[in-house]
Amino acid sequence: MVFKMKFLSKSLLILLTTILKVNTDVVPSSVIIVGAGSSGLATASRLFQNGFNNIKILEAENRIGGRVYTTKFNDYFVDLGAQWVHGENIVFDMAWSLGLLERSTVRNYSNSMFDSSGKQVDQTVINDFYDFYYKTEKKLSHCATKYTNVTVGKFFTDEFNKYFDIHPNFKENEKGLFQLLDMMQSVWQSSDSWLDISSTSISEYHSSTGDFLMNWKENGYGTVLELLTKQYPNPKEELPIINNTILNTEVTLIDYSKSDEKIMVQTSNGEIFSADHVIVTCSLGVLKDRHHSMFKPSLPKRKQKTIEALEFGNVGKIFLSFEEYWWTKETVFLDFLWKDEDFEMIVNEPEKNWLLGLIGFETVEHKPKLLEGWVSGKYSREMEKLTEEQVKNHCIEVIERFLGKTYNVTKPTEIIRTTWNSNNHFKGTYSFRNMKSDAKSVWAETLAEPIDKTKLMILFAGEATNKHHFGTVHGAIESGYREADRLIKFYSELTTN
Ligand SMILES: Cc1cc2nc3c(=O)[nH]c(=O)nc-3n(C[C@H](O)[C@H](O)[C@H](O)COP(=O)(O)OP(=O)(O)OC[C@H]3O[C@@H](n4cnc5c(N)ncnc54)[C@H](O)[C@@H]3O)c2cc1C
Repeated sequence: MVFKMKFLSKSLLILLTTILKVNTDVVPSSVIIVGAGSSGLATASRLFQNGFNNIKILEAENRIGGRVYTTKFNDYFVDLGAQWVHGENIVFDMAWSLGLLERSTVRNYSNSMFDSSGKQVDQTVINDFYDFYYKTEKKLSHCATKYTNVTVGKFFTDEFNKYFDIHPNFKENEKGLFQLLDMMQSVWQSSDSWLDISSTSISEYHSSTGDFLMNWKENGYGTVLELLTKQYPNPKEELPIINNTILNTEVTLIDYSKSDEKIMVQTSNGEIFSADHVIVTCSLGVLKDRHHSMFKPSLPKRKQKTIEALEFGNVGKIFLSFEEYWWTKETVFLDFLWKDEDFEMIVNEPEKNWLLGLIGFETVEHKPKLLEGWVSGKYSREMEKLTEEQVKNHCIEVIERFLGKTYNVTKPTEIIRTTWNSNNHFKGTYSFRNMKSDAKSVWAETLAEPIDKTKLMILFAGEATNKHHFGTVHGAIESGYREADRLIKFYSELTTN
C-alpha cells in the first residue's frame, strides 16, 4: 500500500513537472523568497518540485527555520520556537508515518499547583478547578461565534466568578488565580492580557482533529525542515533549497515601482537582486515594524490597515537543566499561584515583575533533566531585557519559594531562554486577533492578497496570512504551498491562453 502510494505520487509529480517545465520554458520566471522559515521553505519546495528552478531565498538570520528553531542545549535538542504538532495536519501527514512523532497520551497531562508560600494546593481541589477550566475553554471554542464583542478574558471571568461563588475556598486567592488563568490564555495567543483576545480569534482558528500536543521524541520541530527540503528520509531526493538560500541577508527594500521591469530587492549588505516575483514571508511583527520603508511604492492602504490591526504578540520560554531531576517521574505541570500579599510585593519590584507572567514549569518529553517555563506577553518582553544570569537567579528564587517545601530542589546548571521580541527579524512570536482587528474588520485573507494580480509581482505567505491556522507551523507551511500554487497556476494559465 505504502509502495503504491509512493509510486502514484512520484508519477504524478513527473507528469506535473513535465507540463510545467514546458510552461516555464515559454515564460522563464525568477523568484525571490524573503525568509527561510517554514513558509518560505514550503514555497521553495513546492516550486522546485514543479519545474521552477530560478529561485533564491534570502534569509536575514544565520540559519534556516525562522520560528522553528531546534538547538542543542546540554545533552538535548530543545525547541526555542515551535515544539508540538497540533493535531493531524499537514505536518502530521509528513512525519507520522516515518515514526517521528509521539502522541501526548503517553503522559498524564494533569496540573499540580503550588502557592507562593510553598504550599501545594490539594490535588482533588485542583483537578476540579482544571476540569472546569478545560470545559470553559471548550465551551468558548464551541460558541465563540456567538460572543462577538466579548473578549476571552471577559468570557472566562464571568464563568469563573460563577465557579468561585459555589467554591468559596478559592476566594482567598482569587486575584492570583485570575492572574494564572489570564497568563495561561495569553501564552496560547501571545497576548499581553486575555482582555486583548477577541473571541473571533478563537472562532477563526480551526483546530485539526486528533492529538493537540504531539512531540518529536528526542529530536525537535527542526526535523520538519529536513522533511520540507527532502534531506530526510532519502538524502538522494534532496531539493536544491539550501544551495539557493543566502543566509545573513536582510532584505531592506522591495522596489516594484517599474511594473514593466523586474522587481529590485535590496539588502542591508548593499547587494541588489532582481526577480519576476517576490514572495514575502517575514513575520507580521516584521511587517508592522518596517512595511513603510520596505516596499516601493508603499503597500496598498487596505494591506497597510490589515498589517497594523491584526495583532502579533510575544511569549517567552525558559529551559533549565539540572544535574538530576528532583521532581517525580509523573510530574508534568508545576503551576505557580501568587498569594494576594505576595502578588502586591512582586508588583512593586520592577526587576522581578516579569515573574507574574511565569505560569510555572513543566517537564519536557524525552528530556528528563529539563524544566521548561512559559512567560506570557508583556512579562516576556520584560524578561528579555534581563541578562540570562538574572533570569536564572530569579528562577532559582521562585522555584525555591514555590516548590522548595515539597521537593528537594537543586539549582539549575544551565539556562537558555528566548528573545523573540528583541530580535528584529521576528519582533514577537505569533499572530492573533484582538478587539482592534474586529473593530477595523481586518482579515488574514487581505494579508495574503498578492500585489498586482495581473502579474503577481509580490506575494505574501507566513502564518499570519492563514485564515484558519494562524500562529502555527502547519499554517505557515499551508500558506507557503498556497502561494507556490498561485504562481504555478498563473504560469499554466498563461501558456494555455
Ligand atoms: C515560542 C514559540 C512557540 C511556538 N509553538 C508552536 C507549536 O508548538 N506548534 C506550532 O505549530 N507552532 C508554534 N509556534 C508558531 C510557529 O513557530 C510559527 O507560526 C511558524 O514557525 C511561522 O513560520 P513563518 O514561515 O510564517 O515565519 P518565520 O518562521 O518567522 O519565517 C520568516 C523568516 O523571515 C526571516 N526574515 C525576517 N525579516 C527578514 C528580512 N527583512 N529579510 C530576510 N529575511 C527576513 C526571518 O529570519 C525568518 O527566518 C511557536 C512559535 C514560537 C515563537
